[in-house]
Amino acid sequence: MLSPRTFRNIALAIFGLSIPLAFYAIMIAATNANASPRDSYTMSKTSTQSNYSQSGHNIARLSDEKIQELAKDLSPEDRRIILNDGTEPPFCGNLLDNKKEGVYHCKLCKLPLFGSDSKFTSGTGWPSFFTPVDPAHVSTEVDTSHGMVREEITCTRCNAHLGHVFPDGPEPTGLRFCVNSASLEFFEEGDTLPMAALPTQTQTAYFAGGCFWGIEDRYAKLPGVLNVVSGYQGGDDSKTPTYQEVCTGATGHAESVRVDFDPSVVSYAELLAWFFRIHDPTQGNRQGPDVGTQYRSAIYTTSDEQYTEAKAFIEAQQKEGRWSKRTITTELRRAEDTKFYEAEEYHQDYYAKNGGTCAAPIYPED
Ligand SMILES: [Zn+2]
Repeated sequence: MLSPRTFRNIALAIFGLSIPLAFYAIMIAATNANASPRDSYTMSKTSTQSNYSQSGHNIARLSDEKIQELAKDLSPEDRRIILNDGTEPPFCGNLLDNKKEGVYHCKLCKLPLFGSDSKFTSGTGWPSFFTPVDPAHVSTEVDTSHGMVREEITCTRCNAHLGHVFPDGPEPTGLRFCVNSASLEFFEEGDTLPMAALPTQTQTAYFAGGCFWGIEDRYAKLPGVLNVVSGYQGGDDSKTPTYQEVCTGATGHAESVRVDFDPSVVSYAELLAWFFRIHDPTQGNRQGPDVGTQYRSAIYTTSDEQYTEAKAFIEAQQKEGRWSKRTITTELRRAEDTKFYEAEEYHQDYYAKNGGTCAAPIYPED
């Protein structure tokens, strides 16, 4: 993972010292991160699912078709700069002298890129910023065109060409993101933002299906899932339970996971279907080798819509699904009636932190 400081040091090496050494530094950094320099920079601040930035925006790369559709309304000059790595003449861009408070978004896909609070006068003739609003929103890659070695910057989501980043900016980053006005659309504070400019509107679902390490791991890998947290749910809410207390069965809690998801990417129906593929909902108070009430199957819903959908799903599965030959024991309750307690830190992202993956089977689709 590359911190902005490491990134800066690499950039300094490229521009100031030995080019072979700089490429070596990038290669090492990339090897460590098991990704290209661009990926390692963008991935450094992302959440569980790398398609989402820390600020909650969906940054999954748009398809070429979608990019072409968005580009339909661009002027020929904007198209030359944004899609064909062009550069506008210095001191000509409409945002160079803009001093208003607000955020500069990608003109093509509207992802927020730079804040007015990081804009500074560089004297170069192009809008200059010392940091992006979210490091994952701006990607970089080495550009060797025009006989120079430069670091190109692009919009992570739509790959729009923005400009270049140089190691001669002000503190605290020491970087200068030199951006074409043509690549940006400015929204002043208080302006109504288009949907594509906003963070993802997430929903939450809860599932208990045996050991939460495995259920958490499997939901975390599902596209559209932003965050998964292990916890305890469905028991005595009079005091915060510990893992040791839950293990005795005395508190009545199930090992449960909270799933924050992007309903525009993965539906609740798909989460339900996945749930019945990653555990066996007919085992009562056990899941494979794990025996006890804390390993029971349960769904805790966060809305009337979820409750209705989960109920219909369980009934349909009992009638003709994979598990129809046995009695489905999945408990269905409203999450508002039972508190979710986050489990101790050492249980969170267990497989991601400790290596390995859940050994339980993933059942095929119906
Ligand atoms: Zn974009």
